[in-house]
Amino acid sequence: VFSHVVRAPEDPILGVTVAYNKDPSPVKLNLGVGAYRTEEGKPLVLNVVRKAEQMLVNDRSRVKEYLPIVGLAEFNKLSAKLIFGADSPAIRENRVTTVQCLSGTGSLRVGAEFLARHYHQRTIYIPQPTWGNHPKIFTLSGLSVKTYRYYDPATRGLNFRGLLEDLGSAPSGAIVLLHACAHNPTGVDPTLQQWEQIRRLMRSKALLPFFDSAYQGFASGNLDADAQSVRMFVADGGECFVAQSYAKNMGLYGERVGALSVVCKTADVASRVESQLKLVIRPMFSNPPIHGASIVATVLKDRNMYNEWTIELKAMADRIISMRQQLFDALRARGTPGDWSHIIKQIGMFTFTGLNSEQVAFMTREYHIYMTSDGRISMAGLSSKTVPHLADAIHAAVTR
Ligand code: PMP
Repeated sequence: VFSHVVRAPEDPILGVTVAYNKDPSPVKLNLGVGAYRTEEGKPLVLNVVRKAEQMLVNDRSRVKEYLPIVGLAEFNKLSAKLIFGADSPAIRENRVTTVQCLSGTGSLRVGAEFLARHYHQRTIYIPQPTWGNHPKIFTLSGLSVKTYRYYDPATRGLNFRGLLEDLGSAPSGAIVLLHACAHNPTGVDPTLQQWEQIRRLMRSKALLPFFDSAYQGFASGNLDADAQSVRMFVADGGECFVAQSYAKNMGLYGERVGALSVVCKTADVASRVESQLKLVIRPMFSNPPIHGASIVATVLKDRNMYNEWTIELKAMADRIISMRQQLFDALRARGTPGDWSHIIKQIGMFTFTGLNSEQVAFMTREYHIYMTSDGRISMAGLSSKTVPHLADAIHAAVTR
């Protein structure tokens, strides 16, 4: 009965790793995956996470009972504090509801399902380009996806005018997806002044902000600095959705830890919204997993462990920034044609190189370097040892 089923294509991002794994070359390099690697090219479990896990294992009072539908209460409270700030009036006034979800993806999905059921506008505007999973998540949730201009290939920077024009002509009340920081795949973020202009425009048109915060702390190494965009929108007293992920900033990728927060106008509305979020979650995954959220709560609630986390987080962010400089210097040393300053200007895990799909295919074929066909490379997958190989490949690709 399933003989009619056609083979689906590999996921464009995860498929890069599938191809990489098949390549026997000893010099192969995977710059596709958005996961942090050490200088030795190895995945990293943070020391503070290991410590938290040890504490959890040693605590014999811990059991494996189900969490409530909305997840671990302590985790939710601490997650809201992390993104909105310890002194956030919205938290103090109980206008925020936070529910634990399956990492960033699950948080986006739960938020989108709620909006499709309970919000008067079904259209969501997402940046062009954006993370490849965004359009699928929102479409399958029942929202209608449109794009707003974001990236300018000519400057390899923000198309701010295009962005303002497109949001300016969006229908009143439309939902707008915003990357809180470290925009994926472009590495291009608005400045704080530009954020303020975006905020004013969106509020004047009653556009609903839906922040995707997958890289808090990963962009600058500073958790508060990377939450500025979100906090500006919360400070004006208006509504806002935020999907948080602990995949990158705590290295908990496979533990699937995240949270969805909805900032409302009153505490009463927030509690009614939460009651409806439970109706979304219950038939989707019933209740979220306990382990990862317990790790996060253990780290966030203890001052010493929190400080330890920020130091390890900053070290990851700094290594990525140093890779940017090293790659830029290596291309300059080779006299590679073109202005490569965007490599050091862009923010977060990825560089949007400007290489086209043909050049990418050449680099994969001749140099065994794997990346998404849009020319996005994960700086976290690079090391001092592999920078020269990548620089050679880019040089060959643009001069051939
Ligand atoms: N949003 C963006 C922009 C991302 O880059 C990612 C991870 N690649 C996510 C959300 C979600 O990741 P996860 O579900 O692993 O938290």
